[in-house]
Amino acid sequence: MILGITGGSGSGKTTLLRLLADQGAMVLDCDGIYHDLLRQDNELLSRIAARFPGVVQEGTLQRKKLGAIVFADPQALSALNAITHAAVKKEVQRRLESRPPLAAIDAIGLLEGGLAELCDITVAVTAPRQDRIRRLMAREGISDAYAAARIDAQPQDQEFEAQCDYVLRNEGSLAQFQKKCLVFFQRIGIMRINASERSIFDDDN
Ligand code: ATP
Repeated sequence: MILGITGGSGSGKTTLLRLLADQGAMVLDCDGIYHDLLRQDNELLSRIAARFPGVVQEGTLQRKKLGAIVFADPQALSALNAITHAAVKKEVQRRLESRPPLAAIDAIGLLEGGLAELCDITVAVTAPRQDRIRRLMAREGISDAYAAARIDAQPQDQEFEAQCDYVLRNEGSLAQFQKKCLVFFQRIGIMRINASERSIFDDDN
């Protein structure tokens, strides 16, 4: 089974993915894959260079330069996304060729990047804005305003919720969310339960 996981920053995707990895899932982190490709994939770099002359210098992407172009121009951003989404999807497909029994694709752009087509189930992880701000501040030591700006630049929870098969809302404690994830795994039939985990389903938890 291939699960597609999406949602904004600080919503709890990594927390869910760790639990999926505990269940034996192959985890495909598309952000990490994209950054690996920028270092290794000459075809990707030449596509970017062809569309954005001057942003690749001596085989290295000048990220700030590219960022300045695409954030000022929505058409340029969609052109870049078309190039990068195709490269990431190809790499994800290559990694899935070994046909793992369970895999999770983690991508904020899961829905627009064509990755959802590879998934049996898509899951939106969402959480109240204030909780996300607080979690990002604690995790990264950033200011309230910076965390809020990052969150507000991303699609809203409702967009993820409307387009995914399942929604896991992370609005209580970390332990409550982890339990919710395990209950979800049981529901979709991927739970590899063992004696130490069984107690989590006791009523008083
Ligand atoms: P990003 O996309 O920015 O990596 P994410 O969606 O992967 O974010 P996580 O890394 O899972 O989010 O969660 C953000 C931080 O908040 C982590 O440090 C995590 O341990 C913590 N966290 C997650 N859920 C809760 C919760 N319910 N209560 C308290 N802390 C939480």
